[in-house]
Amino acid sequence: METQPFVAAFQEINNRLIRLIGSMSALRELSTLEPRHVDEQELLDTSLRILLDNHELDYAAIFLREDEALEERASRGWQAGGPLPEEAVMPHLSELAAEALARRAVCYRREMQGLQAVEGSAIALPLSSGDSPLGALCAWSPDSDFFTQAHERSLVIYCNFLAQSILNNRLLQQMDALVKARTEQLHDALSEAKELKRRYEELSVIDDLTALHNRRFFFPEARNLVAAAIRYETPLSMLMIDIDRFKQINDTHGHATGDRVLKRMASLLREEKREADILARFGGEEFIMLLPETGVEGAATFAERLRQKIADLDCDGGERLFRLTASFGVASLTFPAGSDAGQVLETLVQQADAALYRSKADGRNRVSRYSDIGCAI
Ligand code: GH3
Ligand code: MG
Ligand code: MG
Repeated sequence: METQPFVAAFQEINNRLIRLIGSMSALRELSTLEPRHVDEQELLDTSLRILLDNHELDYAAIFLREDEALEERASRGWQAGGPLPEEAVMPHLSELAAEALARRAVCYRREMQGLQAVEGSAIALPLSSGDSPLGALCAWSPDSDFFTQAHERSLVIYCNFLAQSILNNRLLQQMDALVKARTEQLHDALSEAKELKRRYEELSVIDDLTALHNRRFFFPEARNLVAAAIRYETPLSMLMIDIDRFKQINDTHGHATGDRVLKRMASLLREEKREADILARFGGEEFIMLLPETGVEGAATFAERLRQKIADLDCDGGERLFRLTASFGVASLTFPAGSDAGQVLETLVQQADAALYRSKADGRNRVSRYSDIGCAI
């Protein structure tokens, strides 16, 4: 009995089984790729490596649609480092890939006609997922009649699997990008809200007209300075300043001129104060200053200098220039260490106010010290 046909058939079955196992292994390996952590190029390169590791293919390439054109995105030969017929083969594979993509069907080219350097056969399969094919996979063999129906069947499954992986990967990347963009937007909105809050807080302690700090800012700051002066037993003085007969200025020159005078006063005080001093608009035409490291003599001298500068100001009354004056009250820290800062501050304000009242009573445009007025608070 002739055993040769049986041996051949057995070998053929054996080969098919090996190919089937190879193709299953490729799919299994492909399915273990974690799409979230790979970029598309990495996915394509790894997929090709898996394909060639598990199928008896010499050469394969992946073409993907990019803006209606078909681009070669990955290619690989089974013989690592061996000579690849890439340059000669690639245009023909590219053509075949385009054909497979257009027809959405497997295409063969058994003879690489018209080529001197290249012989062999090729197969191209569309990478389809859903309605629009993403591209095509091509494989080439130097053998002129290499590809069989078995190749086609296993490669079709591989291609569907790969197309799905590419699509999933793209969707995940898009979602990641979307989440990133949304997170950035959220960060922007948060820092905008923080900035608004800061601006609001700043505005709520700043006087609209003069841009000086107001009472809300002054008291907590002043309390800190008073506490420090008590603790370190350093001198500290307060000035209370009130424009004389301001009502008359408003009545004579108009409210707008009155406003301009207040702004002019504010900038003069701001220019003259030292950096460590705190200054605020205390009321309508009343200003307050706290001068750290300054005793009563220094504070009175400073107040006298301010009084003079104010008296020298030429104010624009529209039709004519006019002058103004201001009265000052000076009070200085004389309390033993250990006193409550809040109470001391309150007392200082009352004393400076009393001294100011004395300046008004004595005829205005002058500086009075609480220590000189001989009344106790
Ligand atoms: P004195 O010398 O006793 O301090 O007299 P005075 O006129 O300055 O004091 P009085 O308290 O009688 O009047 C203060 C005036 O300041 C009355 C008020 O209309 C005016 N005033 C308060 N705030 C503002 C402001 O923001 N702009 C203007 N233009 N006037 C203001
Ligand atoms: Mg006044
Ligand atoms: Mg007043």
